[in-house]
Amino acid sequence: MSVLDAHADYRTRIQAFAREHVRPVAATIDRAQAIPPATIDALVAEGLFASGFPTRFGGTVERGPQAADAWIRHGLLHEALGYESASVQGLLNVHHMAGSAIVRGASSEQKQRWLPRLSSGELLAAFAITEPNVGSDAAAVETWAEGEAGRFVISGCKQWITCGQIAHLFVVLTGSDQGPCAFIVPRATDGLRIEPIHDMLGCRGYQLARIHFEGCSIPAEHLLGCPGLGLSYVAAAGLDAGRYNLAWGCVGLAQACLDASRVHTSSRQQFGGPLSDLQLVQRMISRMMTDIHAARLMCQSAGELRGRLSPDAVKEAAMAKYFASTMVNRVAYDTVQLHGARGCGPDQPIERWFRDARIMEIIEGSTQVLETIIARHACQRPS
Ligand SMILES: Cc1cc2nc3c(=O)[nH]c(=O)nc-3n(C[C@H](O)[C@H](O)[C@H](O)COP(=O)(O)OP(=O)(O)OC[C@H]3O[C@@H](n4cnc5c(N)ncnc54)[C@H](O)[C@@H]3O)c2cc1C
Repeated sequence: MSVLDAHADYRTRIQAFAREHVRPVAATIDRAQAIPPATIDALVAEGLFASGFPTRFGGTVERGPQAADAWIRHGLLHEALGYESASVQGLLNVHHMAGSAIVRGASSEQKQRWLPRLSSGELLAAFAITEPNVGSDAAAVETWAEGEAGRFVISGCKQWITCGQIAHLFVVLTGSDQGPCAFIVPRATDGLRIEPIHDMLGCRGYQLARIHFEGCSIPAEHLLGCPGLGLSYVAAAGLDAGRYNLAWGCVGLAQACLDASRVHTSSRQQFGGPLSDLQLVQRMISRMMTDIHAARLMCQSAGELRGRLSPDAVKEAAMAKYFASTMVNRVAYDTVQLHGARGCGPDQPIERWFRDARIMEIIEGSTQVLETIIARHACQRPS
């Protein structure tokens, strides 16, 4: 039985949910640059905020032999959401990224305090690394944490933060005299100012923001893990989760492109027959199908290794994200091509898919950064 067959019931259920609650609002999300609260409420009511968190904190992943299945189902959720709306997939992605950093770095008390509320959807979390002067080189962050009398005072600015406009808390990477630190910073913290960012190329429902930390004083118990390990240990878990989620999201988006292309090329008549009879068109369709199939298999492999706590899981997620994000750009490009003018017009989702796909090569490690990371894995651990 294939992996997909083994999870057919879950896949059918989650696709039906996405069709009912996400598809009708996907175009509006893009235009209004916001996800309607009712859509977020539906994700919460369906229990989807819990996906990928440990079961002991209300989540779906139990350590042991069932873990791989849970990670595959988590991936299928991101595929189903990516199929309907990259923006909605992005919301659950950053929530899980921030939560994964908490799972990795938090003490038992911190986990007990925060994770059940993330799993239930009472709280939405965002993940803040990037700054005006710092992107790919996350170790160079300029946002700074000064320790004083059982508290930390954070000053600086984070930029391009997905869900920054609406998140209840932020996992924030800072520098400090003792090296990189990761903190949980609630939105209600004094000195935290949120400035929305609009009119991005794609993923326009991400509700991005610039977050200003103007002497934000937070208790020391909001520090995740030890000073010095904020990036390599704590934030790294969030990035790894994001790569896994996004790879599946790209498969979903690419599948939507392929399905639309199949329908269009079968019905559109030119030169006395359907476009799908033309061999150059067939080449595009066959390349799409093969590309998507390969990316999905890489995602499944990454999920299985995650479940087994394999040392190769991080490399596999990076490779899956690298391949899937470049793949979805090829697929979206050809989808516009196959639809001709219709692919450029406002009445179809094609141009939105094309714009959303472009974002995928920039976030969670750009294509070039992932190329260097994957090459580093190759040099460290020959397979
Ligand atoms: C829609 C959207 C949502 C985002 N959400 C978040 C979020 O929630 N949280 C967050 O912290 N950040 C977020 N980001 C920021 C994102 O993580 C960064 O854009 C990304 O890390 C790249 O950083 P940069 O844009 O500053 O580009 P730069 O780091 O300045 O890179 C510019 C170019 O140089 C290339 N480059 C950089 N370093 C190397 C290298 N070593 N070798 C070869 N080429 C290199 C890059 O690939 C890229 O093509 C978001 C960005 C977007 C567009």
